[in-house]
Amino acid sequence: MGNRVYIFDTTLRDGEQSPGATMNIEEKVLVARQLEKLGVDVIEAGFPISSEGDFAAVKRIAEEVRGCQVAGLARTKKADIDRAWEAVKGGEDPRLHVFIATSDIHLKHKLKMDREAVYAEMQEAVRYCRKYTRNVEFSCEDATRTDPEFLVRMAAGAVAAGAAVLNLPDTVGYTMPREMEEIIAKVMREVPGIADVIVSVHCHDDLGLAVANSLAGVIAGARQVECTVNGIGERAGNASLEEIAMAIKTRGEALGLMTGIHAEQIYPASRLLRKITGIMVPPNKAIVGRNAFQHESGIHQDGVLKNKLTYEIMTPESVGLPGNKLVMGKHSGRHAFQTRMEELGFELSDEQLEKAFRRFKALADKKKEIFDEDLETLIMDEIIMVPRRIRLDYINITSGSQVMPTASVRLDIDGYLVRDAEFGDGPVDAAFKCIAKLAGTKSKLLVFSVNAITGGTDAQGEVRVRIEEDGIEATGFGAHTDIIVASAKAYVDALNKLDYRKKNPPGAMQKEAP
Ligand SMILES: [Zn+2]
Repeated sequence: MGNRVYIFDTTLRDGEQSPGATMNIEEKVLVARQLEKLGVDVIEAGFPISSEGDFAAVKRIAEEVRGCQVAGLARTKKADIDRAWEAVKGGEDPRLHVFIATSDIHLKHKLKMDREAVYAEMQEAVRYCRKYTRNVEFSCEDATRTDPEFLVRMAAGAVAAGAAVLNLPDTVGYTMPREMEEIIAKVMREVPGIADVIVSVHCHDDLGLAVANSLAGVIAGARQVECTVNGIGERAGNASLEEIAMAIKTRGEALGLMTGIHAEQIYPASRLLRKITGIMVPPNKAIVGRNAFQHESGIHQDGVLKNKLTYEIMTPESVGLPGNKLVMGKHSGRHAFQTRMEELGFELSDEQLEKAFRRFKALADKKKEIFDEDLETLIMDEIIMVPRRIRLDYINITSGSQVMPTASVRLDIDGYLVRDAEFGDGPVDAAFKCIAKLAGTKSKLLVFSVNAITGGTDAQGEVRVRIEEDGIEATGFGAHTDIIVASAKAYVDALNKLDYRKKNPPGAMQKEAP
């Protein structure tokens, strides 16, 4: 067993199961490209049989990403495996990830199968996968609530049938670190041939123990950790990639372990995912939270000023966090702009750079100090754009204490310009009513939140909205110095995502995954 821990990222599969985390295919490709830069070993890009959208996304990512393996998830059914292979086969060393539940509670209530039948089904599925590739991962769903003797039997059967990776998930986030260590140690000790197989852990955070349990598994001999950027995922989420990677990096000597993660790409990955999914991270979140590197206590500040090592176990720069310094204003030139963009980790084409620079100049006319956060938002909001059905072409608002708030809006829908005007209880209400009428949506607004990106009354407003229609939720994001315009952009963004999700509904089987 080597000391390298492989990072299996499931942001695009398990992570996408977070409520409202819908990503369309272009957005998934952007995330996959960033994961490639981050140096993950495997990208689980989706569950191909669950929807047409998932299939198409996995296929595109497998074909485009080169630096790492791409995996597709499948149940033990042949149709699932065929579909998953069809999606991943264009990749470099593609992986089939097949799973079945092994705990009695899942066998009895969900699968309605007995242990013998589950064992036979697993063997047949792994062997069937092996017809396509040797790179087969098998997961015992709900492994941590499985009878340990049966778990060892399933593990041994999967290894004998030819699985190269054996994953033991804490599907419901129930285990304690000590128990996780024991489960992995037992499998390592008792399963014949386990030395030639990579043992993997996949932990959920229902009790806030996903990272601790993952590390406990690794200490006992697991060499693959399944995790997500920002820890997004089903319910309380998955183990967070950045916490696993930085724990191993910072305490590598004590653990005797390392990963292939390029830590300076962690913050850019976190930022991209926040923007794409609209799911924020709490300010106190380890590694990527806004306050993760802020020292407030006077004694701490004093210590840090004398020597950073007094209270800092890692530097913000090491995870790619840009310093919050005043960068530019209206007189900054093209060269300074380009340099700062590169420092922030954005690789832009000439055309994108030109467009970004024009946007920057327009912003600098309205706002005298431009911070890194403004530049990031500008790139995220205006430049890294995915193809959309609906685009906000124009908006004009009149409101005040003596007038009825009125919005006139022009949208570009499928290339056709449509316009209308509406009254409302306030300017945002008027704008939303008008957009809803033009787009013909019946969606309900669930969440509307406004934040200032930086300080000052000239700060850009950052708006997030979450909408719902027929049980499907979507989140949208928009930024502008005028918060009404930011709100309209966020609403249009959410409508585009909802539209995508309605055309690519998540399959019911997605909820059954490990
Ligand atoms: Zn999971």
